[in-house]
Amino acid sequence: MGHVKLGLVGYPVEHSLSPRMQQAAMAHLGISGEYLLLPTKPAELPARLREVAANYAGVNVTVPYKRSVMDLLDDVSEDARKIGAVNTIVNEDGYLRGYNTDAAGFYWSLKRHNVLPGEALVLGAGGAARAVVYALVEKGWLVGVANRTLARAEELAQQLGAWLVAPAKLEKAVRRTPLLINATSVGLEDGASSPLPPGVLPEAGVVVDLVYSPLRTKLLADAAAAGLETIDGLQMLLGQGMRSFELWTGRKAPLEVMERALGKVV
Ligand code: NAP
Repeated sequence: MGHVKLGLVGYPVEHSLSPRMQQAAMAHLGISGEYLLLPTKPAELPARLREVAANYAGVNVTVPYKRSVMDLLDDVSEDARKIGAVNTIVNEDGYLRGYNTDAAGFYWSLKRHNVLPGEALVLGAGGAARAVVYALVEKGWLVGVANRTLARAEELAQQLGAWLVAPAKLEKAVRRTPLLINATSVGLEDGASSPLPPGVLPEAGVVVDLVYSPLRTKLLADAAAAGLETIDGLQMLLGQGMRSFELWTGRKAPLEVMERALGKVV
């Protein structure tokens, strides 16, 4: 394998933890390469992809292009098409193929924590929620979805085979779910806000927050204080990063090395 050039296309990208995670993995396996931040304004996206096709082994894609980039690729995997979002592009001799590794990365994080299949409740209806719901439904879970904007939850539920949880039923659904996942951005850079009403938590089980900044969100702190098991947002980040690394390099991702690289900065 020659020099492996990778990067992150989005706007903004400077706070990303992916460079250190991916660079640590390459270094550990003796792969010569780099993972660059590629801040890209909307008008620059087509040119950026031509540059990727010419010079990069692949890239990650983040906000705000996970959906819009799909039209500019040569091919999009079935998973990514159904989810409606691409977070990883692989360059095969100038042919750009889009994948979604968020879904598999999320599911990996559940398996890693020995969460057994069953029922789940997902809060949110954006790109992250779609990846999570897709992953769970694919594996046979019964999934409820709730969202601030009901119409988005309705669309997601219908397209991906989940149940719609109406606002009036949310508290009851939360209390009885064995697995609650926050896929909204509530709590992001805000340690005081939770996506749940005060005093409402699952009675037992696992609470996952996809937000990883801060790592210990109010939701996870409340859940831990109530004796629930918690899984933080770095676990999905790690899972998606490992899958992306494997798609680009064909090598098995070094889990501990990548996790340590993330841990150093949080
Ligand atoms: P997105 O497409 O913009 O969706 C945002 C979601 O949050 C929508 O459902 C939105 O509801 C909801 N929301 C935003 N502000 C809210 C508020 N004040 N009250 C209630 N709901 C609110 O974003 P995304 O890409 O899905 O990302 C969602 C979160 O997941 C982000 O915090 C992101 O950092 C995190 N994430 C983590 C990973 C990981 O690897 N750990 C991967 C992807 C994303 P409406 O539909 O009503 O607007």
